[in-house]
Amino acid sequence: MKKQITLVLLTLMVFACTTNPFTGKKTLALVPNSEILPMSFQQYDQFLSEHQVINNTVDAKMVKKVGRNISLAAKRYLTANGYAEYLKNYRWEYNLVKDPAVNAWCMPGGKIVVYTGILPVTKSEAGLAAVMGHEVAHALANHGQQRMSAGQLQALGAVAGNIAFMDDPENQAMFNVAYGVGSDIGVMKPFSRSHESEADRIGLILMAIAGYDPVESVNLWERMKQLGGQAPPEILSTHPSNQTRIDNIKSWIPTAKAEAKKFGVTSFKK
Ligand SMILES: [Zn+2]
Repeated sequence: MKKQITLVLLTLMVFACTTNPFTGKKTLALVPNSEILPMSFQQYDQFLSEHQVINNTVDAKMVKKVGRNISLAAKRYLTANGYAEYLKNYRWEYNLVKDPAVNAWCMPGGKIVVYTGILPVTKSEAGLAAVMGHEVAHALANHGQQRMSAGQLQALGAVAGNIAFMDDPENQAMFNVAYGVGSDIGVMKPFSRSHESEADRIGLILMAIAGYDPVESVNLWERMKQLGGQAPPEILSTHPSNQTRIDNIKSWIPTAKAEAKKFGVTSFKK
C-alpha cells in the first residue's frame, strides 16, 4: 500500500512541477489543480452553507464588483504572458459573509470570502481591492499546498480527486488550515514571510491592472498594523503586518503601475 502511495506521488511530482507565471519560479505542486479544485469547491459551498451570506447590499455588491475586477486583471495578465490556461479550472466566486472577524481568504479555484468585520479596515473599494488582490495572489501562487506538511500532502496526493476524502472532519480541518479557511485563531498557520511578500507583490500588480491605486495597499497595511496590540484581528494571525512589509510594498508601487500601463491603465482609483 505504501509503495502504491509513493508511486502515485512520484507520478504527480513529475507532472506537477509548474512555472509560476508571476514569479517565473518553478513551484512544486504535489497535487494538480484539476484534482484539488473539486475539494476546494466542496469546502467553499459547505462554508457558505454554515455562514450568513449577505446579498444585494451596497457592501455585498462592492465585494462582487472588486472581485470581478481583480479576477479580470489576473486573466488579462496571465493571458498576456502566455498563461491563459492557468485559470482554466477556476470558478470565481466572491461572497460577503456576516462575521465580525477582520478576515478574508481565497481558496484554490478563485473561491473568495470577505468578512463584514474587515470592511471598516479596508474603508474603500481600493482598500478592499488590496485585500482581495493579496488573497487571490496566495491562491494563484499555490501557497496553500506549500503550507501543508509532507505527510498531509501525501494523504492528499494519495486521494486526489476523491471527494469522499472530505467526509472525514480531520481531513477537512487540515485542508482548511492550509488554505486559511475558517476562523479558529488558535489553529491558523501563518503564511511564511516569503509567501506574504510574494502575495503582496502579485496582489499589487493585480490591483493596479484592475485600476485601483496601489498606494492604497500601503494605507491598508498601515491600518492593519495599528489594529495589532492586545487582541490582533484574525487576518494578522496569518498575515503579520510590520514596517519592513510596508516598506517593501512602497518600493514595488512603480513596478505595479508600469505593469498596469501595459494594459492601458494609467489612472488609478483611490
Ligand atoms: Zn497573505
